[in-house]
Amino acid sequence: MLSKLNDLLEKHSAEMTEIRRYLHQYPELSFQEIQTATYIANYYKNLKIPVRTNVGGNGLVAHIVGGLPGKTVALRADFDALPIEDEKDVEYKSKVPGVMHACGHDGHTATLLVLAKCLNELKAELKGTVVLIHQHAEEYAPGGAISMIEDGCLEGVDVIFGTHLWAGVPVGTIQTRVGPVMAAADRFTVKIQGSGGHGAQPHTTKDAILTASQLVVNLQQIVSRRVNPIDPAVISVGTFVAENAFNVIADSAKIEGTVRTFNDQVRDQIEAEIDLVAAATCGLNGSTYQYDFHRGYPAVVNHKEETEYIAEIAARVAEVQTVEETEPHMGGEDFSYYLRHVKGSFFFTGAQPAGVEVSYPHHHPKFDINEDALLIAAKTLGAATVLYN
Ligand code: MN
Repeated sequence: MLSKLNDLLEKHSAEMTEIRRYLHQYPELSFQEIQTATYIANYYKNLKIPVRTNVGGNGLVAHIVGGLPGKTVALRADFDALPIEDEKDVEYKSKVPGVMHACGHDGHTATLLVLAKCLNELKAELKGTVVLIHQHAEEYAPGGAISMIEDGCLEGVDVIFGTHLWAGVPVGTIQTRVGPVMAAADRFTVKIQGSGGHGAQPHTTKDAILTASQLVVNLQQIVSRRVNPIDPAVISVGTFVAENAFNVIADSAKIEGTVRTFNDQVRDQIEAEIDLVAAATCGLNGSTYQYDFHRGYPAVVNHKEETEYIAEIAARVAEVQTVEETEPHMGGEDFSYYLRHVKGSFFFTGAQPAGVEVSYPHHHPKFDINEDALLIAAKTLGAATVLYN
């Protein structure tokens, strides 16, 4: 079964590149993926594979029911793009101004579609059921995963696997990690209300810029002095706004920042600590504040057995030379929600472009992937699916 699947994937590998390049030229932003969803739906309809559309929004779920009994394995690929102008000089460059597949989700989709086609050809000897989850809106919180799960995409699923093509890692390398692998990415805002006045008469004011400045400094003590050093955490202030005339003391100021954590307790702790620090800092300065903590995706936490399984499977793929442990990434991914419902693993497939000195990072206007990685991702996901039973 596995060697037949690998032969089919090799036979159809050019199609993965074709699909990826087509999608690359017609990217759509998160929650606006109408043409892409139609393209995916039509692909399944042409293969006579049942597909449910509008799952939790623009998402799609297809099922391949094998001829033999077995477990239900879900595979997930996302398909949204980013508000970035494509600056690559290639024939498959984005045709949509200001929108670009700058994270490789076009490649994820191409991989899953062709893998589905090959699994479907071998349906008679397939054990169990394969659920193909095509998720919209990964890039923009609240993301598509939550609503797809609420709309039943994980019904009957025993295990889920997903991969991210990774441009910073050489082709032929698969990276896995047991436990937390991608961070929770949250956003906070503190609006400080002081009382403005003449720059020459500070004693009659409550200087909002001074208060906000002290707050930025005081926030640095949370990670360094309040959070257990064993637990990684980041608090970064990225916005500081207090527009004013040069000789006027500011009435109000606003800071905004991002918080990255890998476990729920630290996440809760930091949410509470920012509030305490803001209260104390504003209290010291006789000012008031308004605090909002907007939760993004929780951390992606891989299940142990399923992750070790992926590492074993990957080592058996002919094109894979290296299987290694990745460091946790501070970026966010809404694959986290699936792993809170069913066991599974999210891994990285090396996709560094060939013959370039620098491979541009994800979300860069010149980002590209090495299309040789598509076959590797498909073979790894395919083997993980058929050998699970
Ligand atoms: Mn991504």
